[in-house]
Amino acid sequence: MLAAMPPDPTPAPTPAPGAPRVRERGDACPGALRLHSADDGHLARLRLPAGLLTSRQVEVLADAAEALGDGRISVTSRGNAELRGLAGGCGAELAALLAEAGLLPSPTHERVRNIVASPASGLDGLGAADVQLWARELDERLCAAPWAAALSGRFLFVLDDGRGDVTGLGGDVTLVAADPGTALLHLGGRTVRVAAADAPRAALAAARAFLTAARGAGTGAWRVRELPEGSGVDVRAALTTAGIAAEPVREAVRKPVEEAAVRKPVEEAAVREDIRKPVQEAVRESAPPHGAPPAPGPLGPAAFHVLAPLGRLTAAQLRALLPADEVRLTPWRGAVVVGAGPDRAPALDAAGLITRPGSPWAGVSACTGRPGCAKSLADVRADAVPGRPGLPVHYSGCERRCGHPHGDWVDVLAVPGGGYLVDGAPVPRTDLAPAVTTARTAPRTAPRTTR
Ligand code: SF4
Repeated sequence: MLAAMPPDPTPAPTPAPGAPRVRERGDACPGALRLHSADDGHLARLRLPAGLLTSRQVEVLADAAEALGDGRISVTSRGNAELRGLAGGCGAELAALLAEAGLLPSPTHERVRNIVASPASGLDGLGAADVQLWARELDERLCAAPWAAALSGRFLFVLDDGRGDVTGLGGDVTLVAADPGTALLHLGGRTVRVAAADAPRAALAAARAFLTAARGAGTGAWRVRELPEGSGVDVRAALTTAGIAAEPVREAVRKPVEEAAVRKPVEEAAVREDIRKPVQEAVRESAPPHGAPPAPGPLGPAAFHVLAPLGRLTAAQLRALLPADEVRLTPWRGAVVVGAGPDRAPALDAAGLITRPGSPWAGVSACTGRPGCAKSLADVRADAVPGRPGLPVHYSGCERRCGHPHGDWVDVLAVPGGGYLVDGAPVPRTDLAPAVTTARTAPRTAPRTTR
């Protein structure tokens, strides 16, 4: 059904420490068929599993942005695409355009196709498997499973090819390709090893197990981390039911590992010498790898990674990605252009895209801010400043900090009266450039990852 959504209601109060969050309604995430009303018009969020777009779909999105929206798309922190500035009555026309281009394979599942996969997988010789192929299979299976339509629009599958570039994105189900021919499936602090050929099926079975646990808990959890203590997901049972062989990762030493990790770092833990080695191995195996995102620039001989300035691509910039074998929008608000060699750099540069790690706009992001968001205290996109590359920096119009990066980053927050807080320190708007440069480049005593 095509309908405009009311603005987000006030978020539920944060539960007391230790108390489970109780959700009394379904999630209100926008979709391609469920438009969200914003101050700059309506907004549609189009889920793109693994960020994948064919050339034809790139053209359709550019045309839709120009004909129905504000002429741009925003690339989200999950590699999805948002159209903004839509007229309230354009839902049917937009849906028809997207469906005709193959971008709405299952209207009932359009908001649950939340799949992030290592964008460079299969292109640069790194990684233990091509998880882009896993993403396609998982998406097909997800759309073919009627029960999966009950997942929330926020539930996230993360597929990492072993390089660790997407494991930090907070997946509910995280699959990591491992040698030889296996995958580690992580969910709610548990890890099992499955055959690589079973990986997409296993991810889906794990999601189903989450739904079962969520229903059993009765708290309306949208995500695995919202499940109350003690209502763990029985992944192994779910995999067995699905006929998938799974091996627990060092289950025998998990308890001492966890206990040791709570007491002090495992390296120093007072565990007996005869279990020290298996403990360390278990920690290594059960912790997903963490790696940096690829830098903007060539990715192997036939792919190019660009970033979108402040996470938005004009219709002209979208078209500048073509010709391409395919385009993969990334969770770093850019695109991997498959089929583009290093010789495409001048043209991509000329289109205003970020093609080098040293670009002054690399690593700079901002929320929607004014005038699109009624909650914003400032036009953060206009106030954002380029600068010397360093830590990622994110400008927010209010304390919700929508779309902030994962890991360590510099927080620039608008405050009443026209100024900002840069990592908590008050800074007048006119002095943002030097303050942000200092925050991005000065050594940190400790990463700030808790916002
Ligand atoms: S962080 Fe930005 S986009 Fe999000 S609610 Fe606040 S002002 Fe709006």
